[in-house]
Amino acid sequence: MMTRPCHMPNCPGEYEDRKIVRATRFGGQLIVIEGVPAEVCSFCGDTLFTPDTSATLERVVRTPPPPVAMLPLYRYPATDGASPLADAASEATAHASNARRE
Ligand SMILES: [Zn+2]
Repeated sequence: MMTRPCHMPNCPGEYEDRKIVRATRFGGQLIVIEGVPAEVCSFCGDTLFTPDTSATLERVVRTPPPPVAMLPLYRYPATDGASPLADAASEATAHASNARRE
């Protein structure tokens, strides 16, 4: 198998053929595509697509086929205490205390 040195400056890694998950936003929608063939650097994670793969990704994003699955979406927790999750939790608590008063 041919080795392909990483393009990143001073990176000692080599690209490996992998199937990756690609998440893209298009028109306000988050589109997640799995099984995307890519070359991924074993050291720094730099990711390359062939022109064919890029064109296919572009096509799928613009005119998505029916999804193969629907997944729950998670947000990385914020560390400053001002996350939407924290807001939602305090709002839920407020509603709960209102309900108890009624
Ligand atoms: Zn690299």
